[in-house]
Amino acid sequence: MNLFSRLLATGGFAAVACLGPVVAPVQAQDYPVRAITMIVPFAAGGPTDVISRIVTGHMAQTLGQSIIIENVVGAAGTTATSRAARAANDGYTLITGHMGTHAASVPLYPKLTYHPEKDFEPVSLLAGTPILILARKDFPPKDFKEFVAYVKANTEKLNAAHAGIGSVSHVSCELLNALLDVKPTGVPFNGTGPAMNALVGGQVDYMCDQIVNAVPQINGGTIKAYAIATPERNPSLPDLPTTAEAGLPAFQAQAWNAIFAPKGTPASVIAKLNAAASKALDDETVRKRLLDLGSVIPKPAERTPEALAALVKSEIAKWTPVLKQASN
Ligand code: ASP
Repeated sequence: MNLFSRLLATGGFAAVACLGPVVAPVQAQDYPVRAITMIVPFAAGGPTDVISRIVTGHMAQTLGQSIIIENVVGAAGTTATSRAARAANDGYTLITGHMGTHAASVPLYPKLTYHPEKDFEPVSLLAGTPILILARKDFPPKDFKEFVAYVKANTEKLNAAHAGIGSVSHVSCELLNALLDVKPTGVPFNGTGPAMNALVGGQVDYMCDQIVNAVPQINGGTIKAYAIATPERNPSLPDLPTTAEAGLPAFQAQAWNAIFAPKGTPASVIAKLNAAASKALDDETVRKRLLDLGSVIPKPAERTPEALAALVKSEIAKWTPVLKQASN
């Protein structure tokens, strides 16, 4: 660590600023010399928060600095994502985005103040997260077939929780509701952490959510799960049928979470962050925690910044026509 880095780390910079230009600027190769902030654009306890905490806990050890999670809620994660886009591009402010903040938001928010591709440097994909159809534990239908019939017959009386217009939970249940031709009342929360609490408490009827949030609740019997919207069953919930097995093969939904940095963050900083994220995803303890929660861990080739850039591009292209059609 050079003098300048040490001064920054200890807060002593102001005292010697008068020494003038002999002090060299912090070099990207010294990064990180102080704590990093990871913005999580949803409430604590939801999938984005849980995945961020698991992975950044290990990344912090690799990088030798703490990574402080800051939950910044509102507008389905777009408030936080706007803030991250405008943060200093020095590697000390990052964001865990997802399929909503960095893809679905584009067609759904015409006045979005950031563009996922133009305003961010992709760092690394962290996890794929299959979507589940969930309900309060005393919701009458016993299986997915009954769920479909019940929701169709009672749509005016039902409410569906989500994490705001454009969130994963909103977008995926919009698709489901469009396929079933039902329009329940949407109940927005600041994340599916609090939405899950409402489902467990029986204050809302059903929800589509990333698997990470749901596995402990399903196993604890506090909510019901009807189906997983991926082609294969998930090892964390081997008894839960796929939507194809349950009779609605057209409902396919898997979300993802990934780290992004503001545009212009130095390439060497992105490389260090990417290597730390990839090392975390290879760690046995991290892997077990993610797998136990049903996440799909990306393979090494899927963890590169280039692979994440390609994913964001393809997800925007995929969701734009679907969501424009669904909102008509
Ligand atoms: N699952 C997100 C969360 O982490 C919210 C969402 O997009 O539905 O809370």
